[in-house]
Amino acid sequence: MVRVQAVAPGSLGAMLGLVPGTQLVAVNGRALEDFLDWEFLTADDRFVLSARLPSGEEIEYDIERPEGLPMGVTLEPPRIRRCGNHCDFCFVDGNPDGLRPPLYIRDDDYRLSFRYGNFATLTNLKARDLERIVEYRLSPLYVSVHASDPIIRRWLLRNPEAPDIVSQLRTLAEQGIAFHTQVVLVPGVNDGPALVRTLADLYGLGKAILSVSVVPVALTEFSKRHLVRELTRQECRAALATVDRLATRALAERGFAWCFGADDLYLHAGVALPPAAWYGEFEQRENGVGSVRYLQTRIAAARDRLPDLEGKRVGVVTGAAMGALMPQVLEEVAGATRARFELVVVENTLFGPSVTTAGLLPGAAIEAALRDRRGLDFALLPGEAVNDDGLFVDGVEAHALADRLRLPMRLSHDFADALAEEAVPA
Ligand code: SF4
Repeated sequence: MVRVQAVAPGSLGAMLGLVPGTQLVAVNGRALEDFLDWEFLTADDRFVLSARLPSGEEIEYDIERPEGLPMGVTLEPPRIRRCGNHCDFCFVDGNPDGLRPPLYIRDDDYRLSFRYGNFATLTNLKARDLERIVEYRLSPLYVSVHASDPIIRRWLLRNPEAPDIVSQLRTLAEQGIAFHTQVVLVPGVNDGPALVRTLADLYGLGKAILSVSVVPVALTEFSKRHLVRELTRQECRAALATVDRLATRALAERGFAWCFGADDLYLHAGVALPPAAWYGEFEQRENGVGSVRYLQTRIAAARDRLPDLEGKRVGVVTGAAMGALMPQVLEEVAGATRARFELVVVENTLFGPSVTTAGLLPGAAIEAALRDRRGLDFALLPGEAVNDDGLFVDGVEAHALADRLRLPMRLSHDFADALAEEAVPA
């Protein structure tokens, strides 16, 4: 059973009389387990819906959906499938106390992998889940592989029950499912020969593996540092050399690089990023792969729409990771807008200075960094640092922060989204 949270006015759901709190029990006699059942089973033009209204009344609707009319039903959030692993490098262990509760959830949910691109390990799949993945064609899935050697993988996940990932991927691939995969690189465990084997095994699975990203392990002050450490510059370089070897082969054999180092890996290695064309469709940019080149591509594409901001001073807030790479990006935006962009690199006071991504910057640290900046006309804040409710990771509200600083602010993912609008603060 799934429950209705909201119904859009004028939608088919509203016309049927569905209201918040209505239990959607079954479609064509098949019990509804979650949003996947709801979406896939109601995709047909005709179906029978069994529901229970908040009053307790049970209704069966024989629905013939008029063309183009959406159901308009928003479901209550699903119960997230929890993770059964205990990785030493788990980001949840790296959280300080006192954050918003959702930040302590260890999700490992193939449904969210399909829907939102969250990486899942597939270690908690039941036979029924595998059937659903195939039946509903949940593809592509985003999978944390880490190592193809089952022993190394079990050690990394701290899960002696973790199934053989290569067999899992192969079985699903044979039934038409494709994957974007990642390897979180832990020095001395899955780098070196283990990384060579992992990439070779994934490559050997053929076209079902759409991409592999190799991401250096990221730790905070609160991580289990007595058990795991970050990669050295030399280890990052060695990993990049391994990635490059397979990417070069993939380029020759398949026409695209297939295997990518995360931007962070290049940064720590002190190696220049590949050009934008290397990343193809930037399919793992949310995972920090090609993010800088993507940003530059977006700015170049929006160049004609960027306003003339001559004489303006614009603060650009980012984390230390992008701090080193941002000047080359800002040069391009400045050239297009004639504004003066001032980089504000903010240290993460919540997770510690080792956490350098802009997406985890706490509002309080941003506020402190901007408080003493004088003469800015407005500031651009990293859009990925704020959730759908406008809250930073520490619960600070973005609008409240702007009010306190008396500084116009814009959340931005790629400059173009914030600058290309007409209403740039005067
Ligand atoms: S798979 Fe590992 S890193 Fe991911 S949530 Fe589970 S324990 Fe944490």
